[in-house]
Amino acid sequence: MRVGYGWDSHEFKRGVPLRIGGVGIAHPKGLAGHSDGDVLLHALTDALLGALAAGDIGSYFPPSDAQWKGANSALFVQAAMGQVRREGYSVANVDSTLILAAPKIGPHAARIQGRIAQLLDVDPTAVGVKAKTPEGLGTDNAAIAHVVVLLVKKAGKRSRKIAVAEVVPQPVIDSVAEKLVESVAEPTPSRKPAKSLAASGASTRPKPARRR
Ligand code: MG
Repeated sequence: MRVGYGWDSHEFKRGVPLRIGGVGIAHPKGLAGHSDGDVLLHALTDALLGALAAGDIGSYFPPSDAQWKGANSALFVQAAMGQVRREGYSVANVDSTLILAAPKIGPHAARIQGRIAQLLDVDPTAVGVKAKTPEGLGTDNAAIAHVVVLLVKKAGKRSRKIAVAEVVPQPVIDSVAEKLVESVAEPTPSRKPAKSLAASGASTRPKPARRR
């Protein structure tokens, strides 16, 4: 298992479409940024990369690179998920908190949850979306996002075998090993050698006592 954490903030700007968590929200201001300014998907991308200790969003998609100007931030999440899969992990669950004065996130939370679930290939019940207002922070013209994610290793053949070995108690392993050693040391004689031994009159085995 790997845990990852991401954080991001963007400033509101008039006349820019607002996108949070991969969905469009009707509001007079949007979030300024080199890409679409989706503060939640940026924090999510960093959380995924952080769980893999694989750098951050800026190292893969530098703002200096013109190709990411106005980019849909879902691309960043999808790229991070590609890395997650290549390293043999899948997402167990994700939790997030948005901090912004407006707009209210409640009415849009289910749509955001659904879109993030789709991007991470998980059930919506594995995606937490919470929002708070920035009381006393003086950040009313900004949106802040915190995200934590838990990755789990996908079970392969090898890891399943290891998992079984780990849960079998040592005395059971010892007993099986002992029986194996015994069976190798004293093989059941095949019929042919037994006949020839009988024919020669020799017997290496004591005759069982007759019971009446
Ligand atoms: Mg950002």
